[in-house]
Amino acid sequence: MTVPLLDLKPQYEAIKDEVDRAIARVVDSQGFVLGPEVEALEGALAELVGVPHAIGCASGTDALLLPLKALDPAPGDEVILPAFTFFATAGAAWNAGFKPVFCDIDPRTFNVNLETVERVWTERTRAVIPVHLFGQMAPMAELAELAGERGALLLEDAAQAIGARQRRGAGASGDGGSVAAGAAGTAGAFSFFPTKNLGAFGDGGLVTSVDADLAERVAKLRVHGGRQMYHHEMVGTNSRIDAIQAAVLMAKLPHLERWTQERQDNARFYDRALGEVDEVAVPKTMEGNVHVYNQYTIRARRRDELRSHLSDLGIGSGVYYPVPLHLQPCFGEFGGRVGDLPETERACGEVLSLPVFPGLGGARLERVAEAIRDFYRS
Ligand SMILES: *Cc1c(COP(=O)(O)O)cnc(C)c1O
Repeated sequence: MTVPLLDLKPQYEAIKDEVDRAIARVVDSQGFVLGPEVEALEGALAELVGVPHAIGCASGTDALLLPLKALDPAPGDEVILPAFTFFATAGAAWNAGFKPVFCDIDPRTFNVNLETVERVWTERTRAVIPVHLFGQMAPMAELAELAGERGALLLEDAAQAIGARQRRGAGASGDGGSVAAGAAGTAGAFSFFPTKNLGAFGDGGLVTSVDADLAERVAKLRVHGGRQMYHHEMVGTNSRIDAIQAAVLMAKLPHLERWTQERQDNARFYDRALGEVDEVAVPKTMEGNVHVYNQYTIRARRRDELRSHLSDLGIGSGVYYPVPLHLQPCFGEFGGRVGDLPETERACGEVLSLPVFPGLGGARLERVAEAIRDFYRS
């Protein structure tokens, strides 16, 4: 029995009629860019996330880029972000005109470590990007306080975290309900890349915001910097989302909650099946968080050997991420050194993501867990 890391086909088969009909509707209308399909998606996601503004754009990368460009950075302005994330988080900061400044992570959650955020803060810091890595939210109440006091933009990288939630506030006032990923900062960036929990049939992204002024600037920047055609207040870019992608996403949206539930059930299975293996640490969910498991990521002793063992048995796994961003050659000019961010560097050597997609099924889950237990027994 082989087990792929991700298989999107069963999901499509199950809702083929709904999705195909949505695509046909767009083709019949011949309205391919922005328009009513995109407006419907923006409205539905603003409601789901619980924000007044949502703006569709071309990718998750651009959903990070546009709010940063809206800050209109001066040379030398800085953005703080974790070194343990997908490259896009840092690439967007750099492409918007900022210097990316890297903080370290909490080894329990893989999310930003607040002390290290404070340590690298300077008078040039204009924004902080917590990444809700693998589908669990970073500590937003503390970050909101820090960013609020110092007047920086708090931009959530929620690319992996659609539907994730966090209890509002901490301690005694923790009875104020919960907040969704994308609604806990000033703005949030979502990706609809096919491997994300809500995936399009190609690229797509969305910016959420609680700030009307920022939302307006983002909406302009995605169409070359002007709401009115041929009148440009800013220099923007072309970063629109296709109507076909919006229609596919709207057809999938009613199923998202069930798919997320299945990811969570799969994660519970692994938690139990691998919890007793000494050489493996299962992922931890912090008190008050609802994790949506875009990835189920363990730490494993002899990680690379385990990975080849699984691969020999036809079991897919992934290393997200093998190289810390402060050590990427393209950021060499910033002088990052081995040892600067010890938790990030350790995580890069230990993490392994296992199949967790909806439709995986009990037999294949058993197979993966058994293969891991066997590896450490021998
Ligand atoms: C996928 C992802 C992005 C980028 O999204 P794209 O749609 O691929 O551009 C950004 N940040 C994180 C953490 C991601 O996982």
